[in-house]
Amino acid sequence: MGTDRERKSHGGLDGLQPTLERLGVVDDADWLALVLFARNVVSAMDIFSEDQKAELQTRVFEQVGRRRLDRARFLRVVAVIQEFLLDTPKMADLRAQLENERRGFASLYKEMGDVLIDIRQSSEARASTLGRIDADAGRDLARMDQSPEEVVGRLRDRIAAMAVQAKAEVRAWQERAARLEHTANFDALLSELYSRRALDAQLAEASERCRRDNKPLSLMFIDVDLFKHVNDTYGHQVGDGVLRVLAAILSAHALQFGGYAARFGGEELVILCEGLTETEVMAQAESIRQDVARCPFMPHLTSTEAGSSLHVTVSVGVAQMGPGQNVSDLVFAADQAMYAAKRQGRNRVVGHGGLGALRGA
Ligand code: GH3
Ligand code: MG
Ligand code: MG
Repeated sequence: MGTDRERKSHGGLDGLQPTLERLGVVDDADWLALVLFARNVVSAMDIFSEDQKAELQTRVFEQVGRRRLDRARFLRVVAVIQEFLLDTPKMADLRAQLENERRGFASLYKEMGDVLIDIRQSSEARASTLGRIDADAGRDLARMDQSPEEVVGRLRDRIAAMAVQAKAEVRAWQERAARLEHTANFDALLSELYSRRALDAQLAEASERCRRDNKPLSLMFIDVDLFKHVNDTYGHQVGDGVLRVLAAILSAHALQFGGYAARFGGEELVILCEGLTETEVMAQAESIRQDVARCPFMPHLTSTEAGSSLHVTVSVGVAQMGPGQNVSDLVFAADQAMYAAKRQGRNRVVGHGGLGALRGA
């Protein structure tokens, strides 16, 4: 049972008939679908605020109310709806995430392409060196003025030189492999943090390890407070810069206590902690929260406003994997605790369930 208003706005087709007749599109399924979409579907969506819904409906009906409802006008109204659907915070998050993935894959493909070129050049160079040695040895042997010992000695020198070169190549290849591994496993923007892909694999391995060795496994879920405001005030690039500094603080902390710091997505970062007690994880999280709050982020690096800095805070949710729980339960619990920290006023650490709460500054 809906309210009068709901009944009115979700009424059947009857109320629409006169309007569509008046507009001369009563038999046009496209216009009917469009009007029903704007009237009924938009009202039920939760990605828009009530104000946004009203604005979208007004803009659609404004177009519908015009004289000629031809194909061109229909496409214009569809464009208005598309623009609205694409311009929501959730879509912005998704776009940022996709852009980051794209950047990651682009650098991975580029590096792999470079490696393939180098492999070809290196094997061509080796084939030509071998060819030269073969030809030189044949010539040396054909010359009667050289003893077999001299020929063998020269061959040995050449092979030794090749071995030195091969060793240098192995070292270079090992470095290349490490760089490729880094590109594949670390976040494209926040290069000090593991990527979401690497985190998923690590979560599975760590939970297996901790179950086997009967060690606790905990997760810190770290979300930047009011980050949209930073982007809106200083621009997306400054926002990216803030995230980079944040990544450096997190990875420095994680390094100290053996945590695995990764980017969960957008401005949500996590640290996976193996073998730490509840008290230890909460204390580490609190120390990260304080360091972030104290850090002067410098948004105007290129401007002359020397010394101007901005302060950013984070809300941290901490959870520990309980008996019979899996990694999804762990992530969910830490995420819930992070939202509890937001509800309690942000800039604080909250432990899920049994984990004690620490009040922020
Ligand atoms: P809350 O304290 O409730 O978390 O507020 P918030 O503004 O941080 O929350 P919300 O989720 O509304 O906004 C997160 C913003 O983070 C929106 C999104 O555009 C931005 N963001 C996500 N990833 C990136 C990124 O890689 N770079 C930049 N600059 N911004 C990003
Ligand atoms: Mg967030
Ligand atoms: Mg946030």
